[in-house]
Amino acid sequence: MRENRKGYFGNFGGMFAPETMIPALKEVEESYAQFKKDPGLQKEYSRLLKDFCGREIPLYEAKNLSRACGNVSIYLKREDLNHTGAHKITNALGQALLAKHMGKTRLIAETGAGQHGVATATAAALLGMSCDIYMGTVDMQRQRPNVFRMNLLGAEVIPVHSGGKTLKDAVNEALRDWTKTVKGTHYVFGSALGPHPFPSIVRDFQSVIGKETRKEILKRVGRLPDEVVACVGGGSNAIGIFSAFLNDKSVCLTGVEAGGKGVRGLDHASRFCCPKHSSAGIFHGTRSYVLQKKSGYISDTHSISAGLDYSGVGPQHAYLFETGRVSYTYATDSEAVKAFKCLCETEGIIPALESSHAIAYVLKNAPKLAEGSVVVVNLSGRGDKDIFSVADYFGIKI
Ligand SMILES: *Cc1c(COP(=O)(O)O)cnc(C)c1O
Repeated sequence: MRENRKGYFGNFGGMFAPETMIPALKEVEESYAQFKKDPGLQKEYSRLLKDFCGREIPLYEAKNLSRACGNVSIYLKREDLNHTGAHKITNALGQALLAKHMGKTRLIAETGAGQHGVATATAAALLGMSCDIYMGTVDMQRQRPNVFRMNLLGAEVIPVHSGGKTLKDAVNEALRDWTKTVKGTHYVFGSALGPHPFPSIVRDFQSVIGKETRKEILKRVGRLPDEVVACVGGGSNAIGIFSAFLNDKSVCLTGVEAGGKGVRGLDHASRFCCPKHSSAGIFHGTRSYVLQKKSGYISDTHSISAGLDYSGVGPQHAYLFETGRVSYTYATDSEAVKAFKCLCETEGIIPALESSHAIAYVLKNAPKLAEGSVVVVNLSGRGDKDIFSVADYFGIKI
């Protein structure tokens, strides 16, 4: 194991990888530096974001939801309106273009909710690359529509039977594949995690969420919001929207993790609200907070939402947690489902279960805010993929 001092956020981050993988990570780092400076590639990326994904994504004033929360204005950043239904496509397209520029012909990825797998399969189809997606069998079951979607797009979904059969296990298998195939294959990390340079690359691609939000809210209300809220799985939609506000001390930033069945036990995925089971450690190539046992074994996690069901978290979030710039809290499964229903019924929007965690926090907290407060919630994705999970939760057969 080696480490490279670059790519640190305070004491977090780094490039922890087997010796054989270091040249590949360096190659990605160098190619990405070129990519950022290449006007042709930047233009192509912007064109795809606009014409293929549908950016710029609207900021929607949710008046009914606002009314339900008292005298506050709640705005939803409608990332659910992206092509393929979540923010993930923004990163997948960027990395796929990067991979193509690097001369790679195959993309691999891990997926939890299936959204990143669908986004990567989409990018691979668009750019004429082959694509294999690793997915835990628990997630394949609860995200069935997305498995079929990936197949339709020409990708192979490789079932992962190890461990808790969720995201952590899928990342393990994808990393294993990459160490053997790195010459022609690019591993499209789905969130702002993994070894350097991935946390920075994914954040940069997703920072368009924050840039659009900042510009639009200034136009609408003539000032910055009082609070910006996002759910935190690996942390990409959150860091994407937070990144535009990190230097604005007046803006509270709140990340909402999966509280599962409650953070007292082990059935949750809260890395920041569970000091008993979470601590700093090295996991999947990066130093960050991680849910682990005293023996050092990584804990299995639980959340009703597959996209938040992960033992680790992006290293920049660990840094923002320790510095106190971002507050982290959690919503339980039942709070998330309640919020899911609430947004369906008040606004006519079916949100992803992941995003419902952010809504759940707002439902709890917004009524306590001063009159006239402006809150922006990142609605990271749409909930069509989650109708089976929600039906199961209510014991309904569909
Ligand atoms: C994947 C996913 C998430 C969680 O991932 P982050 O990297 O934390 O953003 C959240 N919401 C949706 C809709 C997702 O698909």
